[in-house]
Parts: sequence; structure tokens; C-alpha cells
Amino acid sequence: MRIETINKLCCSFDKADLKLTITLKDIDENILEGILICDECKRVYPIVSGIPIMSPDEYREFKIEQPLLKRLTKDQISDNFRLIEEASEQQPLGG
Ligand SMILES: [Zn+2]
Repeated sequence: MRIETINKLCCSFDKADLKLTITLKDIDENILEGILICDECKRVYPIVSGIPIMSPDEYREFKIEQPLLKRLTKDQISDNFRLIEEASEQQPLGG
């Protein structure tokens, strides 16, 4: 995915701007791996194989994403990720 395209993305929950951290690019400067962090809600969206994973919370599995996020963020921001394990015990808002 090209950086111009990723820069147009916003948080799917609050439409806030996302901060992009690129961890892997190809020779054409396409983004292959990285993370997008929402300034507002601190959600973390991984970019995998050039595809930003921006599914709603209910379609995300923290256990599946955890190893990836750990690798991408090197543990720097894992405590900011919304789908941390203790959060899964709470009732969803408005649900
Ligand atoms: Zn947000």
C-alpha cells in the first residue's frame, strides 16, 4: 500500500487522524508492514502485507494480533492497544 493512501485513512471509530509507523517497505516505497495509531482512542491498527487491518473491535482477536503487535511495536505501545486482555472481560459499550 502506498503512503499517500495510508495517509488518507482515519480511525474507523472516531475519524481521528492516525499516526503511521512504518516497519517494512519494499523497493518502490510501498508500505508492507507497519502500525497506525489513533491519536484519540489509542487504538492500534496493524498493516500486514500492505493491508491495514481496521476491523471493528468485535471482529478482532487480540490473541491472534498479539504476536504481530508485539513484533511490530517491540512492546512499546502494547499497553495502549484497546483489545488488551483485561478489556475483554468488560461489557462492550452500548451492547
Ligand atoms: Zn480512534
